[in-house]
Amino acid sequence: MQEALKVILDIQEYDMKMIRLMRLKRERQKELQQIDALRKELHQQLLDKEQEIGELGKAILAHEQKIQEINAKIKRIETQQSNIKKADEFNAITQEMTTAEREKVAVEQKVSDLVDKKNTEEELLDKIKHSLKNSEESSKSLEKEIQESIEMINEEGSSLKKQREDLAKSANLEMLAIYERLLKNKRDRVIVPIENRTCSGCHIVLTAQHENLVRKGENLIFCEHCSRIHYWQEAEAASEEVAGTKRRRRRFAGA
Ligand SMILES: [Zn+2]
Repeated sequence: MQEALKVILDIQEYDMKMIRLMRLKRERQKELQQIDALRKELHQQLLDKEQEIGELGKAILAHEQKIQEINAKIKRIETQQSNIKKADEFNAITQEMTTAEREKVAVEQKVSDLVDKKNTEEELLDKIKHSLKNSEESSKSLEKEIQESIEMINEEGSSLKKQREDLAKSANLEMLAIYERLLKNKRDRVIVPIENRTCSGCHIVLTAQHENLVRKGENLIFCEHCSRIHYWQEAEAASEEVAGTKRRRRRFAGA
């Protein structure tokens, strides 16, 4: 019973590594999506700005045409003016001329405003183009780096998968099925040791009777609080594991 559980425990370690890898891969894929979203947003800004400038150009052209029409009108009035003999007719035409000239000044002002606005927008467009170029250069190398790390994750994942499959061949199939069902629910270690008469999965204190059953190791014993499978860790093995952790920590701190 305990021997069979040891195989499943080893399988569990492979599964934990694979779950960690999958999480890492998802994070990296999310980073790629964020880079892509930023690029799309800048592209859209660029298109919007170009369209806005195009509309301004059209408006300027239309107003300039209007000025030409007014100029033609003014010329016509001047011709009429030179042929007029009567004073009242002359006054009327002078009035018409004043109106036309006022209109021309207004339209010219409008053109000047539009040109100013267009210049401002063109400066903004340049800025957008510049930041797009910068972000494309920097994101390209970042994307390459992320892609490479995803490839490494995939390689490591398939190697782990292979090793796990080999190990699963020697596992008790019934026990493996129970373990896999629990793992699917928890996505975390589901075969856990009892530590100080406490489930090391859910940290709830267990009865002495429960602990004895686990110690005997005759059947699979499940935590009545979290459904994890319990196993008994000999004091020696436990302290070895603790020492191992400490060694690893020291190495890590020294690195
Ligand atoms: Zn528990």
